[in-house]
Order: sequence, then structure tokens, then C-alpha cells
Amino acid sequence: MLCSLSTPACGTVQNLVRFEFSRIVMGTSARIVFYAQDEPQAHAAANAVYQRLNELDAVMSDYRPDSELMVLCRASVGKPHKVSKDLAHILARSVDLAERTDGAFDPTIGPVVRLWREARKSVERPSDHELASARASVGYKKLSVDEQAQTVTLQVPSMQLDLGGIGKGWAADEAIKVLAARSIDRALIDFGGDLTASGPPPGHDAWRVQIDTGLKSDDAIGPKESAVDLVHGAVATSGDVEQHVVIDGVRYSHIIDPRTGEPVTRATAATVTAETGLLADALASAACVLGGKSEVLDRRFEGVAVSVVQSKPDQDDP
Ligand code: ADP
Ligand code: MG
Repeated sequence: MLCSLSTPACGTVQNLVRFEFSRIVMGTSARIVFYAQDEPQAHAAANAVYQRLNELDAVMSDYRPDSELMVLCRASVGKPHKVSKDLAHILARSVDLAERTDGAFDPTIGPVVRLWREARKSVERPSDHELASARASVGYKKLSVDEQAQTVTLQVPSMQLDLGGIGKGWAADEAIKVLAARSIDRALIDFGGDLTASGPPPGHDAWRVQIDTGLKSDDAIGPKESAVDLVHGAVATSGDVEQHVVIDGVRYSHIIDPRTGEPVTRATAATVTAETGLLADALASAACVLGGKSEVLDRRFEGVAVSVVQSKPDQDDP
């Protein structure tokens, strides 16, 4: 998703100076903008943020076979496996959100995600047999997490945990925490479309961010672009404009309905504002799955606003 932000240009405001850094982390550009006293403070803070983001990548990545998450996926079935505090926390929150979205968001979706990732490359649907066997290892009820004891139990073989729908939002929250611990409390983190902010720029009430769903104006129902004023909160946009495949005239998204194993097939973009990036990110994925039924999320989650834009039913991009 494309997001841009308009804030006062570089300069000194109330003795605070605006700094901006950008690096690639988790395969995405992680941009951080904040106000600090001086350059040494800003550089030290930015380094600390990127160190924390790399630490979280080493915990959550599903591309790195040595990440803590991937090591956990190879653990023996039916036995509690000790994990780090970070992994216990994000998995516990993921299972909680899976329950509260009736499984529209599901961190056990990995086996099915992998099949459809292959399908995007080969431009061929997975076979019914492959899908059925992948689905046997999907379902958040097959994952038990004891956050207190820091243990995780995989209840069935071949489970693949996938934090792709929640990890960047949480990482953005953690970046804000790292800055706050260094007394930098006017900051915005843009993690490839998952944005979390603390206090506003000096002299402003909020960070004004531009959300672009990427959907074209004549083929989608609902607002394609919008400006959001962000302060002590988060906004996440999820969608398939960049990541989808068309097979036999059907458009398959990278977001999958965990309850059927089938990808979303209408061009969809969901934007969610919430108190934390973790919540906004996970609910944006859930909202893409729920489509027109996603108002249920507004009702269930206090302080959350969900907006879904979908292509008209008969005008999906070929
Ligand atoms: P984006 O990359 O558009 O920001 P998301 O935050 O929605 O997307 O995350 C999409 C990723 O989440 C997918 O690539 C996949 O790894 C994973 N995923 C797909 N469907 C689901 C789902 N229903 N619940 C949880 N994770 C999902
Ligand atoms: Mg998401």
C-alpha cells in the first residue's frame, strides 16, 4: 500500500528538530520520522529502533528458516515448547484476535499461504488434495499459547505459523516504545503501510497521513484515498493490489479466508484505525477476508474504525 505523509519540512520547532530515517527491514521499507533535540540523540535513537526491528524479524520471519518462529514450527507435536517473551506475546495476541474475529484472522494460515504463494509463481491453482492436506494443519484452535509460562504447543503435525498479517503493525508499536524510552515522544513509524504514531509534530495536533488503497477510481466501490490524522494511534491498510494472481479469469489475493483455504477473489483494500499497530494490522487482514461483513469488527472492538473498499463484482482486474 502507498502511504505518504505531509508534515512541517525539516527545521527547528520549539528547539526540536525533525529527523527522518529509512531502512529495509522484513523485506519492507521501515521509515521513521520524529522530533529530537539534536543529531547525536536522533542517530542513537534510530539505531536503537532498527536494532529492535531486526530483533523482531529474527523472532517472527517466515522467510528465514532460522527465525524463532520457524524453529518452533519444527518442534514436536503435542508438547509445550519454551519460547521467548516476544514470541509468546505476539502468538498469544494473535490467538486472541483469531477468536475475536471468528477466525477471519488466523496465525496458523501458513500451510495454505505457502500453497497460494506457489500458485502466484506457477499461475496454477493448487490441487484439491494439496489444499485439503494443508487445511488439516490450519486452525487457531490447534495452537495453544501460555504467555505466562512462555510455552507454545502445536496440536497437529505440519503446522506453519504466519505472522505476516500482524507482525509489521506490532513492530511499529515496538519502535514507538523504543523512541519513548529515549524521551522521543513525537514520532511516526511507517512500516510499508502500517503506521503507528506517538505525539504530534510540534505546533500540530496530529500527523496527517495520506492513505492510498491503490485501487483505481472507476472500478472500486468506496473511497480510494483518504487523509487520516494520527496521534497516539495507528492505521493499517491491507490489500491485494500488488500481490495477487489471475488464474482462469479468477483473481486470487495473497489474503486468504482461513475458514475455506480460498483467497479473497474481489480486489479489496481495508483500512483500519486503532489504538495500536498490532490491532490495526491484524484487523485490516481480517477486514479483507470479511469484506462487506466487516462492520462486525467496529462493533466488537472499541476505538476501532474499519473501512473496506472493494471492486465492483463484475469488474475485477484481469
Ligand atoms: P499487506 O502485505 O497488504 O500489508 P497484511 O498485513 O494483510 O498485508 O498481511 C498479509 C499476509 O498475512 C499474507 O502475505 C500472509 O502471509 C498472511 N495472511 C494471509 N491471510 C491471512 C489471514 N486470513 N489471517 C492471518 N494472516 C494472513
Ligand atoms: Mg494485516
